[in-house]
Amino acid sequence: MRDFHQTTDAMLEFLSISRREFFRSTVTALASSVCLPWLLRWKPDSSSWFLHADTGAIWRADDPVRWCLDNTGHPVLDRAADGLRKLTSVDNDRIIRLVTRRCRLNLIEIAPSRVVVSYWSQTGLADIRAFFRQQQLARNDVAVVFNDLKKGVLAMRTGDDFLFGEPLAADWPLELFLSKWRRRFVGEPDDWTAAPRTWSGYAWADLEPNRIPWAALKSFWRGGDAIPCQNCDRPMILVNFGAPWTGMLRRSPRFVRVCGACRRSFLDGTVQDAGAWVNSALDAQVQPEFVMLHDRRVRRAIHGLQ
Ligand SMILES: [Zn+2]
Repeated sequence: MRDFHQTTDAMLEFLSISRREFFRSTVTALASSVCLPWLLRWKPDSSSWFLHADTGAIWRADDPVRWCLDNTGHPVLDRAADGLRKLTSVDNDRIIRLVTRRCRLNLIEIAPSRVVVSYWSQTGLADIRAFFRQQQLARNDVAVVFNDLKKGVLAMRTGDDFLFGEPLAADWPLELFLSKWRRRFVGEPDDWTAAPRTWSGYAWADLEPNRIPWAALKSFWRGGDAIPCQNCDRPMILVNFGAPWTGMLRRSPRFVRVCGACRRSFLDGTVQDAGAWVNSALDAQVQPEFVMLHDRRVRRAIHGLQ
């Protein structure tokens, strides 16, 4: 997470308080207060949710303190029940601290374009990605404040940090891949040149080792494989396959898909046997002739390598 001090201005903007007001209190005092989330509750179109860090269970609780006091018999509050029975609705802060600490709950408070996630220490932080997707919060115009109640530390992020997958590097040749994908049913003069950024553990004749020719990718793309993106449901395209060397004695499957809409890449861990995949997924004439034995090409199926 970005350092709190680097994001002070963004935080002030978020909280809509002036710099002078801010420095009247200390960072620590502000950060250690769970009053921050309650700011959002003044907005009529805000909502509050509890997210259980272990199970991913989520439910709406627009008055989270009231919900805790009214549900002391709920299994999810089991470890806080005794404490809750001694508290009342004036104990706002104590109640939220208690249930985040003892029950591994995250309190997520949403106002338009703004979210506060309150939780108890880094190990108590839930995976918020699925919820952000469901609520359409994984956007760069959504400010997200992480409120670590244990440390009294605030950290600022934006919603698009919680998309699934990894962001493509700015110089990753997405347009080139998309244009080749669109022409997957058409033979082109450069189809037997290497697709950039590929690394397969295989080799094709007259091609730099490990690089995958467009012809092989097109062969797979024509098969209509269309796994949807976890962020936007658009079909992703396969941009790498194979089993490169990842150690002295080890090759590991490396199947990567990319979504052109959200510009994220995804490692596909479902393929365990790259050799079997190559044999079944690619037309025979575009299958690699060689498998790399470290930096040496050997005919496939020799030395037991597939
Ligand atoms: Zn996507």
